[in-house]
Amino acid sequence: MTCPRLEYRAADDEHEFDHVRPYCTVTKEFVSPMKADICNDRFDFHHERHCDVFKARAETPPADDD
Ligand code: SF4
Repeated sequence: MTCPRLEYRAADDEHEFDHVRPYCTVTKEFVSPMKADICNDRFDFHHERHCDVFKARAETPPADDD
């Protein structure tokens, strides 16, 4: 299962691209292709086990978490 925090966007407040890229809604940043392999649970990765951002958010969700 792909990480529920992953989106594909062509722009954010600071960047604009001519194609969509993987974007983490936790860090509010575009992620590298290597990181996207974790986000998409490719190979033997799993976002719940291998992503420190996901684990930190799961342990300490912000008050306005959706
Ligand atoms: S960086 Fe982590 S929390 Fe963000 S989309 Fe990827 S797997 Fe999910």
